[in-house]
Amino acid sequence: MTMARTALLLSLLLSPGLARAGAGADRPNILLIAIDTCRADHLSAYGYARATTPNIDALARRGVLFESAYSQSNWTLPSFASFLTGKYPRSLGMFNEGKRLSDFDYTDPKLGADETTLPEALKKAGYRTAGFFTGRYNGPDYGFDQGFDLYRDYRSDVSRKQQRTDSFAAFLPEALEWMEKNKDGPFFIILNPFELHRPYLPPAEFISPYAGDYKGVLASTWFSKPVLSSIKKNGEGWSFSLDEATAAAGALRKAKQFPSNYPPVRLDRADLDYITARYDASLTYVDKFIGELAAWAGKHTPGDTIIIITGDHGEELGDHGGFLHNTDPPKLYQELIHVPLIMDIPAKWLNTGAAVVRQPVELVDLMPTILDLAGASPPPGLQGRSLAGLLKGEKKEEGGRAVFAETRGYGVRVRSVKAGAWKLIRTGPRKGAPQKAELYDLASDPAEAHDLAGQEPDRVRELLHRLDAWSDKNGK
Ligand SMILES: [Zn+2]
Repeated sequence: MTMARTALLLSLLLSPGLARAGAGADRPNILLIAIDTCRADHLSAYGYARATTPNIDALARRGVLFESAYSQSNWTLPSFASFLTGKYPRSLGMFNEGKRLSDFDYTDPKLGADETTLPEALKKAGYRTAGFFTGRYNGPDYGFDQGFDLYRDYRSDVSRKQQRTDSFAAFLPEALEWMEKNKDGPFFIILNPFELHRPYLPPAEFISPYAGDYKGVLASTWFSKPVLSSIKKNGEGWSFSLDEATAAAGALRKAKQFPSNYPPVRLDRADLDYITARYDASLTYVDKFIGELAAWAGKHTPGDTIIIITGDHGEELGDHGGFLHNTDPPKLYQELIHVPLIMDIPAKWLNTGAAVVRQPVELVDLMPTILDLAGASPPPGLQGRSLAGLLKGEKKEEGGRAVFAETRGYGVRVRSVKAGAWKLIRTGPRKGAPQKAELYDLASDPAEAHDLAGQEPDRVRELLHRLDAWSDKNGK
């Protein structure tokens, strides 16, 4: 961008405000990094004890960090469907209800062609759009390529070689090339790195600082879904049945990764910590690429690119008796739905200063917010709300805004509502089991270990009412 145009823009935007569409007006580039399987509390920017994310921390220090951002679900399909359309998953029907993941059906469900996606809305406003994905559940089979000039599905290049963990390394060169070609903008690009998704396999030099010289039973284990999901808490201890894991994974058995009749293994703290170390190492590996992207944007599009970092959902790392996400039974605890949300917005587009926003927000707010920042008109029917007011430091939003999440699968529906410090999780009914409600006080019990539903019937009733009202308003 020329100096003259920059000066003109600055004079048009004397007071901090949003860039508006209009003749000659320019628009920001938008780089959205949706890190798969990224729980907020493992980023040093969110107070984690390990310095996992130095580059993201730097963006957070100069931008806006949303302390309390929530995904609308606990796995990829409903979450991506939601934040790429600005609607709740239930209004889109984007669940894989009643199905076990082992017998998923590629054709069901699919994002409706009549839905307007974020890239479609931006295209209409003159944006070039690109998406780089690695997941099965945000692929073209599910309708997620809608609105992208360039949609790149790196599964075939990456995951089929069982190197899905290295997706960022795989697609970054092509993504940078595309941004370089479109740097005069405006462009919108979404990157969905998969490094934090099992099997958490970053290069060894990222693991060793966190794992030390661990040489336990998990050191040579492929962290597949059957393996990690067979780790269970029994009373106070943890154990791992390799037989169960291998029985569930024909491919593993065929690969003879484990001998048959391997006795159940008791896992100790060091084993469990090793899993977390590999997750954290994957996060640091992702952070390295984010540093490269931020440096590229600063050098090649100075002042012109908004960088947004988030996660589509979190990951359980032993928090509630198990590992992974979207497991049986489905869960909506904090580690699965509290995700990072950081926006680094050059002052020319919106003078946010560095700030931490404490008010709770939802990922369904991303689309209206991005359209606002881009000066693009929102399609009708959006269920999220623009966070532009919060970004400008206006304290209009109430701290008690309720945030909602939902997941369906394994024959059960689970919904949650969090209002202030209170969180209610509604499960069921499930075949053979009645529905139940759990209630947690996140202020005194952030780990959701003490269910207070029995002691607080009035609060349960009130939150159930809010949850049902939200459910009725937003779909089936
Ligand atoms: Zn995901």
